[in-house]
Amino acid sequence: MASLRLLVVAILLLGCTSDHRLAAAAKRLPMMPASAAVVATVQRAVATPPFHAGIRINASPGKGQAALWLIAPRAPWSDAPRGVAAAFWENCANIRSEAVVICDAAFFQNYLREHTLYPASKAEIDLFSQWCVGHEFGHLVLDADDDVPAQYREYRADCWFLRNLAPEEWTPLVSLSTNIASGTIRHAFGPQPLGAGIIYDYNGRTYDFTSDADHPEILMRAVRLLVLIEHRRHDPAVSAMLRPFARQLRQDPSWGANQDLCIGGLRR
Ligand SMILES: [Zn+2]
Repeated sequence: MASLRLLVVAILLLGCTSDHRLAAAAKRLPMMPASAAVVATVQRAVATPPFHAGIRINASPGKGQAALWLIAPRAPWSDAPRGVAAAFWENCANIRSEAVVICDAAFFQNYLREHTLYPASKAEIDLFSQWCVGHEFGHLVLDADDDVPAQYREYRADCWFLRNLAPEEWTPLVSLSTNIASGTIRHAFGPQPLGAGIIYDYNGRTYDFTSDADHPEILMRAVRLLVLIEHRRHDPAVSAMLRPFARQLRQDPSWGANQDLCIGGLRR
């Protein structure tokens, strides 16, 4: 889930290499088929301008199209140009000028291994891959050269993903987000008291996961997805889980206006 800044770094590493050459080099890596769920999420999303002609998988986009390139696990990254590996290895990123999203398929499983409380199931890994891919397509569609803070763009891209996720997948996303939130707390602070839902120390500790990096911490993003689902579905179970934790979670100032915009967009 890299940002454009990462791509700029990658491009600098390559000297005068252009986005086009970066894409051409990435395209030479071995690719693998995308799951039907990933394809469905993205196809729903890009059926409107500027990508009204749809998406292509593992191929160059034509006029009015965008493309997803899914790099196969165990791709020979050491043989790839340095900038390509820097941008896309163990990552998911986009090249706006080429209308391409490039994801290293190994990233999904490896990232969750470090960020969940319980080992991610195959279904959770697939849903996470939808999140990552959908997020990057959100950047492609929404990030014109607007002058908004980086983290605002990230929440906006996550919101765009959620809008284009099939409603029947929202409940599994609650489980995945809860698993990620609990896992992130566990990795940061060690074992927590037993409990249900988000597992945290409810004895008054303040959790500060806000960050100055391009992307908000994954816990903040997982919690925001839960907040959005709670609002959209008026879900008392999610509310009961979130409200006590939110009181101990330092709020991220870049979220407020975005939350209102996102919730408005979800009421379609
Ligand atoms: Zn992003």
